[in-house]
Amino acid sequence: MSRSTDSAPAPAETESTSAETTASETDVGTSASGEANADATDAEAPLLAARNISKYYDQSEGFLDDLIGDARPVRAVDGVDLEVRRGETLAVVGESGCGKSTLGRTLLNLESVTGGHIEYRGEDITGLSGSAMQPYRRDLQMVFQDPLASLNPRQTVGEILKAPMEVHGIGESDEERTERVRELLGLVGLKEGHLDRYPRQFSGGQQQRVGVARALTLSPELIVADEPVSALDVSVQAQILDLLDDLQTELDLALCFVTHDLSVVRHVADRVAVMYLGEIIETAPVEELFANPRHPYTKSLLSAVPRIDPAARTDRTVLEGTVPSPADPPSGCRFHTRCPAVIPPAEWAGTQAEFKSAFTFRNRVLGEEIDPEAIRTRLSAESAATDNDAVATRITERFVPDTDAQLPANARKAIENAAARLANGETEAAKTTVTEAFPSPCEDETPRDTPTEGGHVACHRVDPEMPGDPDVL
Ligand code: ADP
Ligand code: MG
Repeated sequence: MSRSTDSAPAPAETESTSAETTASETDVGTSASGEANADATDAEAPLLAARNISKYYDQSEGFLDDLIGDARPVRAVDGVDLEVRRGETLAVVGESGCGKSTLGRTLLNLESVTGGHIEYRGEDITGLSGSAMQPYRRDLQMVFQDPLASLNPRQTVGEILKAPMEVHGIGESDEERTERVRELLGLVGLKEGHLDRYPRQFSGGQQQRVGVARALTLSPELIVADEPVSALDVSVQAQILDLLDDLQTELDLALCFVTHDLSVVRHVADRVAVMYLGEIIETAPVEELFANPRHPYTKSLLSAVPRIDPAARTDRTVLEGTVPSPADPPSGCRFHTRCPAVIPPAEWAGTQAEFKSAFTFRNRVLGEEIDPEAIRTRLSAESAATDNDAVATRITERFVPDTDAQLPANARKAIENAAARLANGETEAAKTTVTEAFPSPCEDETPRDTPTEGGHVACHRVDPEMPGDPDVL
């Protein structure tokens, strides 16, 4: 962790500037196999880079298709640019289902990309597999979430750790390999005596130590660790995190640490990439991200992280709504349906909170989340009136409570109008009403990457050419 402070500034400038990308591509072209040229390339290129990569999963032939008649592909990773620099720990964070694991696997060519390129030390390794990938495989290793499932139950720890060395022809003899295995066990805090044991004879924490040792057998340059502690008891999570941190420093490894848990990031990461619905929406050095998060999604994630300081606990931003489907992501900024800072139209007369309240109602109508007949049944159970007016009134009371926001009169009118249409069974008309009454520039255009302190953020509020105060939250 400490080293990266010296190495961070120079590569930081190369990130996401297309001129640099072109330069390193040219290097690859002219130095195809030139060792002599390798160092020149190395100095410029990040260790591993994703250039606009996508990974779509076709669901047209799966059971899901039969079940819900949905043949759109799942856009698990959708246009990601990301660099892992040598010796750094890059954390990739985001809610479950946002595509972190898919990104981790595609970064390592364990799965082929749908689009874009993967570069290792400036060399294009996109789509390489089998023997073509083998020379790179040594350098690029993975630690998985569930250690037991990723270890062969019929092999002893010694066999598990020797297998990759045999495949890659490392070590002159079995004895030499066994010696190396002993070293590795020491490195990850296991004992020589563990060599002849089977995975299930270990605790979860020890199994993950074996998983880490296996990733280290070939002296890699980069390890992608996908939620390496989330399957472990809380009591041993810190030990494994410390182990990874120590190894990273000791062996000068680059670590791509994938996690849904922002609270562990601060202690292990140098840099953070925040992911939402298949896209990277913000990157920043870890201290900068925690001190000065720029994207509303990052702010929301951070506000949910438990703080020791009671004063910092007050202003939690609770995210509205569920994560949309990656098969049908929202238009424009994908976060706009849940964003507390969603930009009102120019003519909006109320406050941000009021717009957010109206916009949330809009999204519930568009998502068909409001069931007027369920409300009618409820009213009937309460022995209240069940006519359309009563249903409409209940919808507005329940979904746009006055306590939340005193909406401008015309906004209130539009909501009442939409509620009346819902109560009347006119769902499409209700959708039209809310769409016309509550538009936002956030749903129209995809936000551009705006450079920030050591990273970038994709949010209209931060983009100087778009409307909206960046400090609204
Ligand atoms: P995360 O690791 O952030 O929880 P994943 O990368 O596992 O997210 O998943 C992202 C999306 O891609 C999810 O909607 C998931 O259901 C889908 N997905 C992941 N792997 C596959 C697969 N092999 N086939 C089909 N869909 C997948
Ligand atoms: Mg995952």
